[in-house]
Amino acid sequence: MAAQIIDGKAIAADVRRQLAREVEAHRERFGEAPGLATVLVGDDPASKIYVGGKHRASEEVGIRSIAHELPADTAEEELVELVEELNADDSVNGFIVQLPLPDHVDPARVIAAIDPRKDVDGLTPTNAGLLVQGREALVPATPSGVMELLRRSGVRLEGAQAVVVGRSDLVGRPVAALLLAENATVTICHSRTHDLAEVCRRGDILVAAVGRPRLITGDMVKPGATVIDVGTTRTEEGLVGDVDFESAAERARAITPVPGGVGPMTIAMLLRNTLKAARNQVSVRSV
Ligand code: NAP
Repeated sequence: MAAQIIDGKAIAADVRRQLAREVEAHRERFGEAPGLATVLVGDDPASKIYVGGKHRASEEVGIRSIAHELPADTAEEELVELVEELNADDSVNGFIVQLPLPDHVDPARVIAAIDPRKDVDGLTPTNAGLLVQGREALVPATPSGVMELLRRSGVRLEGAQAVVVGRSDLVGRPVAALLLAENATVTICHSRTHDLAEVCRRGDILVAAVGRPRLITGDMVKPGATVIDVGTTRTEEGLVGDVDFESAAERARAITPVPGGVGPMTIAMLLRNTLKAARNQVSVRSV
């Protein structure tokens, strides 16, 4: 195996250390640490684990965290009211509504109610639109994590052929917009793409965000490519990525493992967004 392993765990720890210093400086200057609220509806075990991880990581870097837990039968209206309360609460600089929501709740309506200045998941139409226009926005955490890993891997983005497999609002589309903003030439693949292997082989940079274990095999990787595997599927053998690591690593210049690649970056970037939101809010208040 020739490829450099992009160690997301170590890079995320480094991002959190840097953040802890910046959060402390913010607290000293403005008298209060940034505040992140989470809204969890129902008792989906995976969501509980994710939200718990966000609180633990917040504490570690000195961000105040506030938990709201609502029963699974909470009415959509009630949830929108809580979102509006959080929008108006000056002690909350950013908040997330953990997805998925129960079936009777329309996630698009709840997300659209979030004040874009506090939308640290970067999912509101306002932030998504700003990102597509290449303007300043709160960017979803996982795509920001992908970009941080690419930067630290030393790959040149400008002019590179970048292939993104997946076009979700959460990962694929924002990753593509961020790569375009860095002047890569971007191709987006999805379930209707013809000859996925041939398109993937064009990528100097290949980002897989699909959710199909080992869909991307070594023969689909351009020799010397940088491969970022966002996919995580829970299987009997544990957490499995979208990329067949062993065969892809034979051809790639650099590659992320699963677990230990993109996953650890996501929470670190959410915390970075919370600090960014807090900074934006104090600068507006002090004008
Ligand atoms: P998603 O909303 O289900 O989107 C999957 C995308 O993959 C869709 O655009 C779909 O195409 C495309 N697709 C499905 N089958 C395909 C195929 N055979 N060939 C090419 N494209 C195909 O998933 P997501 O939310 O973006 O998440 C993707 C993966 O990333 C999941 O495994 C998820 O668990 C993981 N994830 C990890 C993190 C992390 O922190 N590590 C964070 C978020 C997500 P269509 O649009 O045509 O349906």
